[in-house]
Amino acid sequence: MNNCTNNKTPAAWFTPSQQKGSVMKIKTARHSGFTLVEIMIVVAIIGLLAAIAIPNFVKARTTAYRSACINNLRQIDSAVQEWALETKQGEAQQVIYENIKPYLKNEVVCPAGGHTFSDSYSLATVSDKPLCKIKPTDTDPLKAHALPVDTAN
Ligand SMILES: [Zn+2]
Repeated sequence: MNNCTNNKTPAAWFTPSQQKGSVMKIKTARHSGFTLVEIMIVVAIIGLLAAIAIPNFVKARTTAYRSACINNLRQIDSAVQEWALETKQGEAQQVIYENIKPYLKNEVVCPAGGHTFSDSYSLATVSDKPLCKIKPTDTDPLKAHALPVDTAN
């Protein structure tokens, strides 16, 4: 009886142990991580997405800066006109920041690198439009921080 069970036990052990061995082999292959080609494909896809996205972020930020700056220029121009009306200034009258400060609700600076009014904007006369000192002109007029030219009258 004992011999019989002893003989059967190895036979029963033999097959599962072989299966165990093959399972172990697959497991070790999976545990070895990603292959070089897999990692390279993932890195290439991430790089491609970054190459598409980053110029768009930069462009969106530049456009936002320009819009904010032109909005500031409009506020400054309105303040100049308001000051000229209230104090009865002529069109050729020189204007400085101290004159229009009470007409601005907050200090306006160019978002593309300005820190104070004086390093962001320049004023001349009442009839002149205020100018941005950070980016007053550009080869592409759609990128310059400048008020559009008057078309009325
Ligand atoms: Zn500007």
